[in-house]
Amino acid sequence: MGKPSLCIVIPCYNEQEVLPITAPQFKRELELLQERGYIADDSCILFVNDGSSDTTWEIIESLAKSDPVFRGICLSRNRGHQNALLAGLMECRGFCDVSISIDCDGQDDIGAMEDMLRAYLDGCDVVYGVRSSRATDTFFKRTSAQMFYKLMNGMGVETVYNHADYRLLSRRVLDELSRFEEVNLFLRGMVPLVGFKSTSVYYERHERLAGESHYPLSKMLALALNGITSLSVKPIRLITGLGFIVSLISFIGVIWAVIVSLLGHSVAGWASMVSIVCFIGGIQLLGIGIVGEYVGRIYLEAKRRPRFIVSERTFDEEDDER
Ligand code: UDP
Ligand code: MG
Repeated sequence: MGKPSLCIVIPCYNEQEVLPITAPQFKRELELLQERGYIADDSCILFVNDGSSDTTWEIIESLAKSDPVFRGICLSRNRGHQNALLAGLMECRGFCDVSISIDCDGQDDIGAMEDMLRAYLDGCDVVYGVRSSRATDTFFKRTSAQMFYKLMNGMGVETVYNHADYRLLSRRVLDELSRFEEVNLFLRGMVPLVGFKSTSVYYERHERLAGESHYPLSKMLALALNGITSLSVKPIRLITGLGFIVSLISFIGVIWAVIVSLLGHSVAGWASMVSIVCFIGGIQLLGIGIVGEYVGRIYLEAKRRPRFIVSERTFDEEDDER
């Protein structure tokens, strides 16, 4: 087997400030890896423009024109980080043996790619990049992210702690991943389901080099909700359990009420009535809401809409097919 051809997949959304800084860094790292003999000379960097409204796509196009190592695809509109990443991963199957996905903001240490490739050459098909510390993140980002992982695990979604979307996937994992046809994407939870031999490499997380995070609390909550509902039915099971406990308590309450009234002690218990009604009402609404979340997802899945639409490429699609 010759040296593997690597494709670094980078989703970009409104990153005009940071792309001109990080693109040369990625290129330098790729050259370094080539010099050290890890990867083939036809390795490349694939940018996925996720429907940016700024000049990100123009930057990618001019990068691709200046150097064939840079390639770009443009999605027809903003579809979100997970979909953009999947678009890139599915695209690069046409021309690489192994992929590494990374954010374009320079937060993840590109130096870890060498460790990832070493693990790949040792026979691993999946290598997770795991943050060894979050010292540079703000307190808010750190705690909310930690809560995110706790929530995911508590709700029965298997994820690697402190691993985001910086990971190496071999060609055969990508091919298997392409058979997962869900529309509600949570790649972090799907990759462990694909299986194969995996390992983790650790790296320091840096601050964003420029621009702003696109993951405010609302988007993070949406991601968590997507992850939980698309990979686990534990919430529904919890409600079932809760309903069972409440029914049991109500049953005891009914017996108690009958006994009290038979003994002739019944007094107008307004407060207790109101609290019970409110409590049960609240639980019912919560239950309907959670079940509704799942019904909504089923609705979206049933439509089988495409998860992304590629509108432009800086290269010929068939050209590199092997
Ligand atoms: N991103 C994307 N589409 C979106 C939002 C973000 O492709 O709708 C990309 C973004 O350009 C970056 C990566 O996803 O490369 C992670 O986003 P960001 O750095 O804003 O998130 P954070 O690191 O703060 O969690
Ligand atoms: Mg970031």
